Amino acid sequence: MIYDVTVPITNTMPVWPSDPPVSLTPKSHLSRDRSHTVRLTAIEMGSHTGTHIDAPYHFVDGGLKLSDIPMEQLVGTATVFEIPNARSIGRNQLEPLNWAGVERVLFKTENSNHWLDGRFYEEFVYLEPEGAEFLAGIGITLVGIDYLSIDKYKSEKHPTHFVLLTRNIVILEGLNLANVKAGRYKLVALPLKLQDADGAPTRVILMDE
Ligand SMILES: [Zn+2]
Repeated sequence: MIYDVTVPITNTMPVWPSDPPVSLTPKSHLSRDRSHTVRLTAIEMGSHTGTHIDAPYHFVDGGLKLSDIPMEQLVGTATVFEIPNARSIGRNQLEPLNWAGVERVLFKTENSNHWLDGRFYEEFVYLEPEGAEFLAGIGITLVGIDYLSIDKYKSEKHPTHFVLLTRNIVILEGLNLANVKAGRYKLVALPLKLQDADGAPTRVILMDE
């Protein structure tokens, strides 16, 4: 089974409040001989729209850019852990989980139920910086979460991003894990190949092992 955990990109999708809105504008025209319509679309959006990767350069001066992230980090075994009853994810939630053999981790929270709210969901569950320190300490290489930031909403210093990005741990944000059970999968996360970018919209799929 293949699970598409990518959020659809639309003009009405929730975007981070200070980010550019998504604007997909049809730019169709008739062929020269007027026999058919050539359909194409002008695309305007931020590089952190919907399901996306944060490259270290997003926050870290001189950090790795999107095109510097090795493909090996974006493809491989990933574990989905469900964190159902917490407003944030810290050591208390993480320590009891079974981390044997876990290299990449995706957190399924109640955030996944809020993609269809029709507006930005401010109360989203996030990863505490001490939770990020725990993950870094056990050698995790990629961390995913099911809303638009891994830090608390209105965070001023983005501490969780810094813990992860200064160690070149890839952050995957904006997943929709509503239809995926906790467990081990093969992950494929392929960002648009935007040269030297700070991040990019990413198609993410999970496959049963
Ligand atoms: Zn981010």
